[in-house]
Amino acid sequence: MNSIPEIFASNVFNDDVMRDKLPKDVYKSLRKTIENGADLDINVANIVANAMKDWAVEHGATHFTHWFQPLTGITAEKHDSFITPVSNCHVIMEFSGKELIKGETDASSFPSGGLRATFEARGYTAWDPTSYAFVKDGSLFIPTVFCSYGGEALDKKTPLLHSMEAINEQALRILRLFGNTTVKRVNTTAGAEQEYFLIDKEKYDKREDLIFCGRTLFGAMPPKGQEMDDHYFGAIKPRIASFMKELDEELWKFGVLSKTKHNEAAPAQHELAPVFTTSNLATDHNQLTMELMRKIAEKHGLVCLLHEKPFAGVNGSGKHNNWSMLTDTGVNLLDPGKTPHENAQFLLFLVAVIKAVDEYQDILRISVACAGNDHRLGANEAPPAIVSMFIGDELQAILEALEAGKSYGGAEKKTMEIGVHVLPSFPKDTTDRNRTSPFAFTGNKFEFRMCGSSQSISDANLVLNTIVAEQLCQFADDLEAADDFGKALTCLIKKTIKEHKKIIFNGNCYSNEWKAEAEKRGLHNYSNTVEALPHFVDKNNIRLFSKHKVFTETEMYSRLDILLGIYSKTINIEALTMIDMMKKQIIPAICEYSAHLARDISAKKAVGDFIDATPETELLIKLSTLNKKLYEDEILLEKAIKDVPVSYDSLEKAIYYRDNVFSLMQTIRSIVDEIEPVVPKTIWPVPTYSDLLFL
Ligand code: ADP
Ligand code: MG
Repeated sequence: MNSIPEIFASNVFNDDVMRDKLPKDVYKSLRKTIENGADLDINVANIVANAMKDWAVEHGATHFTHWFQPLTGITAEKHDSFITPVSNCHVIMEFSGKELIKGETDASSFPSGGLRATFEARGYTAWDPTSYAFVKDGSLFIPTVFCSYGGEALDKKTPLLHSMEAINEQALRILRLFGNTTVKRVNTTAGAEQEYFLIDKEKYDKREDLIFCGRTLFGAMPPKGQEMDDHYFGAIKPRIASFMKELDEELWKFGVLSKTKHNEAAPAQHELAPVFTTSNLATDHNQLTMELMRKIAEKHGLVCLLHEKPFAGVNGSGKHNNWSMLTDTGVNLLDPGKTPHENAQFLLFLVAVIKAVDEYQDILRISVACAGNDHRLGANEAPPAIVSMFIGDELQAILEALEAGKSYGGAEKKTMEIGVHVLPSFPKDTTDRNRTSPFAFTGNKFEFRMCGSSQSISDANLVLNTIVAEQLCQFADDLEAADDFGKALTCLIKKTIKEHKKIIFNGNCYSNEWKAEAEKRGLHNYSNTVEALPHFVDKNNIRLFSKHKVFTETEMYSRLDILLGIYSKTINIEALTMIDMMKKQIIPAICEYSAHLARDISAKKAVGDFIDATPETELLIKLSTLNKKLYEDEILLEKAIKDVPVSYDSLEKAIYYRDNVFSLMQTIRSIVDEIEPVVPKTIWPVPTYSDLLFL
């Protein structure tokens, strides 16, 4: 293998390659587009396209594809070859600027939430030059945004880019107020810690529920779960280690900054964390990471499960989304800094985030709502469904002192004055202790811990960007109009702390006391997807997203419709899978064992009354009783699915699926999980949790 610095980003048409392959003026003009969103001249695009094609062909590509992120949450691609015939028997490899910039795709099968009538099936993809093109599996992948014929966004990338623009604009206004004239751009950054399970492929293939739903619909707990904490950060087994090694090497080739890997809390669970980058790239990189995890696992005879809750009873998988703001001059705006001036600026950005999270708890909750995450949020390993913030005791004490105008500090207490005194430093380890908080300040960034492992991080980030942009906008409006900046700043920070400190909670978010306390504070507690989603189109939220040009109202309604539809479809697939497994595998297996028992009982009875058949008889009674209930519930489940009223709109349908289908599935599961431990392994039709979780 070549050295890592040599292979790093070797598949990427990145800035270095551009500088090397493009004429100077073309490179400059492309940089302008990348940095300021300036329109790309078609002549420039032609030259870039040609250079990209030559480079891609050198790297083994024969095709190109516009790579986009439809609302299914995964990526989509359609490949065209570079060949152009020049005569009957000759072709040349060609790629024009037009093909680079814009693609047209028959998009009728992608969800549009009613935005695009099926007769107008055209969708357009447009190059996003802020994310680099790369070569993979013989094709040049061009990151693109995806929209309808009418220009409405049909993807997860467009609103994310708009939200980055919004926060850039507002953060620059704030920086100018602090006298900063050098910063030209503020980007948001994201680092997504990805959790996942690896299980044996042969065993996976024997479970329809894993194949169709990505999670087990049945499964009794093995004698040992995660209670010993011996898997967490434990030694990595050779087969897993070789998977991780290959994954790292592949990711590095695509410029993904894969950095940390370790075993997680549940058996067979692992985590990968990259070094953070801009939200846009981090989103693309996370999609690539998930794709490569799946692909490389198969090469090692494994399957990578990215579902939020593949196994009941052990931890599910999330994705911690670390978030901050970074200037083009390299300053992290959530870093407290060392001077009173820097501290004052930090405090303003900090309270902007606090206010944003408090005012828009609902859309943060919605950004992580999906059927899979419903199993996780509020269960004991994950943050609760209630959004709150953790800022650590030290910062808490500082904010309290500021609000009350009281003194702060150890031996030599002093009154904290914004812009006059330097904040004491609060090292990362004092701010990182609370692992139960959904939204924690960890020294120089926030960590949003509610994202599901299978979800695109675009939603969480576009929400964070937009809600913070809104607060910065309000602050800038206020401060720009002030006569005395220092006074107005102090006043604004104090007022914000006072009005929004109710969102801060530094205690144990898993506890029942917190639930009660949160209710008292008036915080939202949307315990499931169907309860959360409709609030997406609350007036306040429509106003917010329209104001910052992230979504139009139409786009929001269409997204809501799509998300509700995905929820119902997910539950429907799960229910159908459950029915299939029950009919073809579980119920027949129970019948088979019951027949065994019945034969044994009569054989014993035939020998004579002095032989005791009590164990067999009692087991048979237990199994027959449970099996009867199972059989009846299976019929009810089939009926529930058939009876979904056709007149229902997407919300009514989702409610129906939650209350009539999902709840019945839970009951059925609990019966099967009671039966599984008493049926011999030789008869039980599918691999058990013990087989799956302990490789
Ligand atoms: P932990 O497991 O304690 O949460 P890790 O070190 O595994 O911490 O992960 C922290 C993540 O936060 C990494 O992906 C890291 O790159 C990311 N991160 C660090 N600084 C920033 C920042 N300024 N903006 C966004 N993400 C960041
Ligand atoms: Mg973390």
